[in-house]
Amino acid sequence: MKNLIFSALTLLLLTGLTQPVGPIYQVISQHPHDVTELNPYIETVSEEGRLWLVRLKSEAPAKVMKNLRLVGNEKLSSRLIDSEKRSPRASISKTTELVEIENLKADVTALSSYKTRAAGTEDNKRAVTWVQERLNTLGYRTQQICYRTGVCSVIADQPGASETGVLLVLAHLDSVGRDFAGADDNASGTASLLEMARVLAGKNLRHNLRFFVTNGEENGLLGAKHYAQQLSASGEIRQIKLALNMDMVGYNSNGIIELETNAAFEDLANEVAQLVHSHTTLKPKITLGAWGSDHVPFLEKNVPTLLTIEDWSTKTPCYHASCDKPDTLNYEYAGEITKLNIATVLMKDGI
Ligand SMILES: [Zn+2]
Repeated sequence: MKNLIFSALTLLLLTGLTQPVGPIYQVISQHPHDVTELNPYIETVSEEGRLWLVRLKSEAPAKVMKNLRLVGNEKLSSRLIDSEKRSPRASISKTTELVEIENLKADVTALSSYKTRAAGTEDNKRAVTWVQERLNTLGYRTQQICYRTGVCSVIADQPGASETGVLLVLAHLDSVGRDFAGADDNASGTASLLEMARVLAGKNLRHNLRFFVTNGEENGLLGAKHYAQQLSASGEIRQIKLALNMDMVGYNSNGIIELETNAAFEDLANEVAQLVHSHTTLKPKITLGAWGSDHVPFLEKNVPTLLTIEDWSTKTPCYHASCDKPDTLNYEYAGEITKLNIATVLMKDGI
């Protein structure tokens, strides 16, 4: 018995000694390959939604450390926002009701019919042209903006009636390049952007409405970084009153939408969470601690910015894999996120 107690104590002590101590890091890439490389070096401190905090068990090589961000004093959290469902505002819902699920399905299918949408490929260029023509047809003034020769994003503008501010809606069109895949990541966000553009075309808004279909997101947010830098250099960045990013809005089974930003814009996330309650069938989860998509360059320039994304705890099992195909998506869910983002634009416009 005495031996047993002794052993138990030794075991407890040893376990205690092997517990990692030291700084906490946030994981800022969850590409399956990066996670496999990361796992041997870390112990999870907490994981909720998109927010994954870890400690190091042992010294890790540079290729692992580049996917970790040292946590400082900033507020990081991820939590469901409980609230009573509220009745929608008629002035907003008469517009959100125009969203057609069939349009989302058709556009995800069309975008996934390119063999690849990896930035810089011929198919990627064709997809960019296809998106630009769609936005032209809807009556927007469009242009391509290229961060490298032949690798371009699309910008589409609808002038506002009175204000000089810009409401920016963005989604990336490129994929990691698996054949005929990238339906959720991110044909879903691009299709949702196109449906927003259709519903809001010709609507008399106070703000300039701008759609930004980005390229090279999967290569390091290249299109978004380039454009945010350009806006910053010209001073136009101060005109951007809202940047609303849609990335992976098509796979879900629990009815939760994640709203991600940094602590500085928690109020914006709270406002949008109220719209989730009043204008959709979904439940909002707010995550503070932005990483890994095109909202980040705008947050770094201090623009009020939000990412809308499927609940990361139950994200597509086909993330960055060749099975990310149109028939795996939940189009009703993507439709609810499209309605939410229309409601957000209208709220910010003062409707
Ligand atoms: Zn993506």
